[in-house]
Amino acid sequence: MTKFLTHTPNGFDLPRRIARIGELAYNLWWTWNPDATRLFARLDYDLWERLAHNPILLLRQVGRSALNAAAQNKDYLATYDRVFADFDLYLAAKKTWAASAHPELAGRPVAYFSMEYGLHETLPIYSGGLGVLAGDHLKEASDLGLPLVAVGFLYSQGYFNQHISEDGWQEALNHPIEINEHPFLPVLDDEGKRLTVAVEFPDRVVTLQIWEVRVGRVALYLLDSNVDSNSEADRSLTARLYWSDLNFRVAQEVLLGVGGVRALRTLGYNPLAWHMNEGHAAFLTLERARELVASGRAFADAIAETRSSNIFTTHTPVPAGNDEFPVWLMDKHLAALWPQLGLSRDEFIDLARHHQPWGETFSMGILALKLAEGHNAVSELHGRVSRKMWNFLWKDRAEDDVPITHVTNGVHTANWIARRMRLLLDKHLGSDWMERLDDPDLWAKIDTVPDDEFWAVRTHLKRKMAFYLRERARAQWLDDGVHPVQVVASGVLINPYDLTIGFARRFATYKRAGLVMSDVERLLELINKPNMPVQIIFAGKAHPADEPGKQLIQQIYRTVKKAETGGRLVFLEDYDMNLARYLVQGVDVWLNTPRRPLEASGTSGMKAAINGALNFSVLDGWWREAYNGQNGWAIGEDAELDAQVQDEADAESLYDTLENEIIPLYYEVGADKLPHKWIARAKNAIATVTPQFSARRMVKEYVERLYLPALNSNENAKPKRKKK
Ligand SMILES: *Cc1c(COP(=O)(O)O)cnc(C)c1O
Repeated sequence: MTKFLTHTPNGFDLPRRIARIGELAYNLWWTWNPDATRLFARLDYDLWERLAHNPILLLRQVGRSALNAAAQNKDYLATYDRVFADFDLYLAAKKTWAASAHPELAGRPVAYFSMEYGLHETLPIYSGGLGVLAGDHLKEASDLGLPLVAVGFLYSQGYFNQHISEDGWQEALNHPIEINEHPFLPVLDDEGKRLTVAVEFPDRVVTLQIWEVRVGRVALYLLDSNVDSNSEADRSLTARLYWSDLNFRVAQEVLLGVGGVRALRTLGYNPLAWHMNEGHAAFLTLERARELVASGRAFADAIAETRSSNIFTTHTPVPAGNDEFPVWLMDKHLAALWPQLGLSRDEFIDLARHHQPWGETFSMGILALKLAEGHNAVSELHGRVSRKMWNFLWKDRAEDDVPITHVTNGVHTANWIARRMRLLLDKHLGSDWMERLDDPDLWAKIDTVPDDEFWAVRTHLKRKMAFYLRERARAQWLDDGVHPVQVVASGVLINPYDLTIGFARRFATYKRAGLVMSDVERLLELINKPNMPVQIIFAGKAHPADEPGKQLIQQIYRTVKKAETGGRLVFLEDYDMNLARYLVQGVDVWLNTPRRPLEASGTSGMKAAINGALNFSVLDGWWREAYNGQNGWAIGEDAELDAQVQDEADAESLYDTLENEIIPLYYEVGADKLPHKWIARAKNAIATVTPQFSARRMVKEYVERLYLPALNSNENAKPKRKKK
């Protein structure tokens, strides 16, 4: 699609017979294809773990003898040949869903903008759920053959690593990343020079270089201001995710929106739709308008022409969740833009003016809502909350008629399902089940999976998790000199046969991580019942500037460390995609206790359910749509209550259900020692959640309800420019 090339570095010294494994290291397709992943791991399992699953480092460091052995091992070569046959077929495939269902999309990609992408634990360009959702969106777009091109940032310092001190205080560690240890490929122009784009600020120009990450068939372009010609301060603009300093943040968002559009133009793209994943990218709407104004159109016409192909997904149910900037920051960073749009300062601020009790702000949420035609929330309840919250922008409309629809989030199945579970389903649903995973008819067959086989897989996954926790604890003990109590707190005493509950997510206070500990005595009694032990694993980072979030971690950590917990309460530091994978695949119950309606959707519970864990959650976000009485449990009522009333009622509901339903059900086993009733629920969870809460269903919905209308409504919103 583009004539600009990225060249796969050819620096590996590999035996000829398996040389293409170097190519695989530069396409993240390997991350969601377990056989491809194993091609790396099998070269040297220990090294693979030590390098935290980084294939580029592995191929540089693995010994020649291991490589030679693999190149002569029949079994390895059979896998190798099969993986590359699949990979080549995949990259060349013409018969994709997009090509057959929507041939009109050919050659007109969707542009997808996001501040973060959670693609793999080795790429620290994400902080949490928003990024993981974006990563899953790209993987699914690739699988569906959807023409899509994505834009984000290459954060040279990544997101922070979390260390918990002996007293439970979160410490943030920043590690600069080595670009050449990651699959970031510099984009080069015809002469082999680094391709750059420029973004003007009132007092200077910031240059961005562009890197490409290959996600199957999808290209993700990462902008990077760490360029010699930029000032020291500008070079750090893209160093970190979510600066707390609003100055940095505005500048960063200008780079994403304006720089992102320019990067795609320079690369020769003419997208059919522009999808903003959250309001951070909303300045792209102004850059698109500026292009048309520069070619002679009036601003109002430019907006009218571009709006229909802008799409905005909102992820927060609270006004404060949207970035809003004091107006003076607009002067500082955007004063060069309004004349280029033919607007006065006031007219410009009017585009997103928000009257707050503390003064006037420029709201990225308002900008995106006003300048995009397609708007969506990320669950049904979140849609309702968003229509209410933004009703003031459509004063003449009733709340129900506010034009914000919802597309409930989903997860990329191949990325999150355990290999063993996938093999079990291959055996009983048919080896093509993944092709048909959003077909509800397929899932009736789940009942043909024998309980003993099912439980064997579940137990295997739990043992694997427990083993992994022990290895982590051992490494901390050896390398970090932690206190012995911290070793116990990090899960060495976890028993893989006991009922295990997981609670892992960002430590934002609305997620109420403390709810399950609101009555510590009652909790200790519940987890220490004879013959019915219960274990709870906590993990999660708080934003470094979020003091209440960090205090919550401390409060939980202090309880976890108490001797009376018998090592059954655990806090794992440094939650990331790798740890998330072990937890969602290994625990029996996935606990989620947001204060309704503040969890817009949530996705980790979906990952747990597709692996056979049972959700135990407040009826908020996605779970309100998924819960059917058989596939998990609900906490509290399907209603909004006053915050304090809700906290008390939910805690009571949580303890009651745990004591009277969840714990006894897990330990109710038949003569064959299998918990048949539990297994029936787990199968029900897999069968109901996998199709409906898949990224497959989600991306198809985006195509049909939001991207295609953009194609149909406005064919000529292209800047007038010479063909390259
Ligand atoms: C899936 C995921 C999340 C999102 O979890 P929520 O349920 O939406 O809170 C956050 N972090 C990581 C590492 C994840 O894998």
